[in-house]
Amino acid sequence: MLQPILAYGHPLLREKGKPVSLDKEELDTFIDQMWQTMRRANGCGLAASQVGKNLCLFIVDSRSTYQQMENAARQALYENGDTGIEEVFINAEMISRSGDVWVEEEGCLSIPSLSQPVARPWSIEIRYLDKELVQRQKVFSGNTARMIQHEYDHTQGILYIDHLNPVARKLLMSRLKKIRAGKVQAGYPMCFFR
Ligand SMILES: [Zn+2]
Repeated sequence: MLQPILAYGHPLLREKGKPVSLDKEELDTFIDQMWQTMRRANGCGLAASQVGKNLCLFIVDSRSTYQQMENAARQALYENGDTGIEEVFINAEMISRSGDVWVEEEGCLSIPSLSQPVARPWSIEIRYLDKELVQRQKVFSGNTARMIQHEYDHTQGILYIDHLNPVARKLLMSRLKKIRAGKVQAGYPMCFFR
């Protein structure tokens, strides 16, 4: 079943996700719904809070983006040997972030028709449970690490616009107000907080 995506302004997007304690069957169904919802919205990542569940859970697909890219972009945005991931991150904990920061445009399914350049560390190390509930600890870099950081932020109640400088954020105020008020066409079902 497809879920509507919570729009900017919904208080749930500002809450920290609770540790996941669903049974495996419930979890599998929910994760399946998240993949379907993300794909229908043409997204490359989705966090549980965006579909109304206050859980520390998100999915990332950096593989589709990789496959759609020209070679030059692949070389610039992906580390050698990385062809992207399609992965579920449950109860993730960020272990470390590298010091080298790079800037790239980001958007968010909860903030439709808007994108902004965001500075993020090039690589991260993260510990999480995968979809089989097996504990993993991995290093990711480039575009994959950017997507993971964006989604991990959602589990902390943080949105990418929080990383912008005050001037850039001020310039977005009227557009954010419109989204909050539901005056936006997303191309996929959204849930506005009233
Ligand atoms: Zn987002």
